[in-house]
Amino acid sequence: MPEKRVNFLPGQFLEVIFDLQNKDLNKYLSFSSSPFKEYIEFTKRLSSSLFSEKLKGLQVNDEVLLKAALGSCVFKEEYKKIAFLVGGIGITPVISILDYIAEKGLKTDASLFYSNRTDEDIAFRKELDLLQSQNNNIKVFYLVTECQPRDKKCFFGRIDKDFLTSQAQDYKERVFFIFGPPKMVEAMQGICLDIGCKKENIKTENFIGY
Ligand SMILES: Cc1cc2nc3c(=O)[nH]c(=O)nc-3n(C[C@H](O)[C@H](O)[C@H](O)COP(=O)(O)OP(=O)(O)OC[C@H]3O[C@@H](n4cnc5c(N)ncnc54)[C@H](O)[C@@H]3O)c2cc1C
Repeated sequence: MPEKRVNFLPGQFLEVIFDLQNKDLNKYLSFSSSPFKEYIEFTKRLSSSLFSEKLKGLQVNDEVLLKAALGSCVFKEEYKKIAFLVGGIGITPVISILDYIAEKGLKTDASLFYSNRTDEDIAFRKELDLLQSQNNNIKVFYLVTECQPRDKKCFFGRIDKDFLTSQAQDYKERVFFIFGPPKMVEAMQGICLDIGCKKENIKTENFIGY
């Protein structure tokens, strides 16, 4: 629990700072819960990095320096129809945004296109299935790129023009959010521009470091 309340907008991120002198020990992580919660939550895909080891080693009551809130790729209530094009752990800010929409009872029409290598790699699966089943305005498409998914609810293949335009025929009315590694963000941005989305309706956040 932070010492004082951390105000943030859904879609924003923070910096976890373990050592001001060593940049490898300080990383950006997105908020993965709505701003209405009593606590703040972020989610790290753990690796063998020193930073991951530091996170794993934290005990209850340990103190960590956080810098927040950062980033301008945020959801605004005036957006009536939105779509997310997301890869891997880029799902974290989407959870914050969808939680916000659900907890506030907004009617925002949200379609999520979520790409992973395999069905086992899908993070927040339970939470997303629940959000979808409890909110008619939230739709989730799971895409698996590496091998035929065992799960019948997942689609095989990458997010491409055909898939996007057939599953979200009103795409020109939507504000697009793209979260993921820089190469994925670039590719998705290209698709959005190709199908005729307006530049101002495409919001991106590069998860540099993946
Ligand atoms: C806005 C933003 C939000 C993010 N949100 C999340 C999140 O919610 N959850 C999450 O898990 N991660 C998130 N990331 C990525 C996160 O900051 C880390 O970079 C990532 O988790 C890898 O950390 P690691 O310690 O495991 O990296 P490592 O295992 O040390 O590195 C992974 C790979 O990335 C390379 N790399 C590491 N840092 C950089 C860098 N700064 N520039 C270029 N290449 C680099 C390494 O060489 C290695 O190949 C976010 C990044 C940004 C910028």
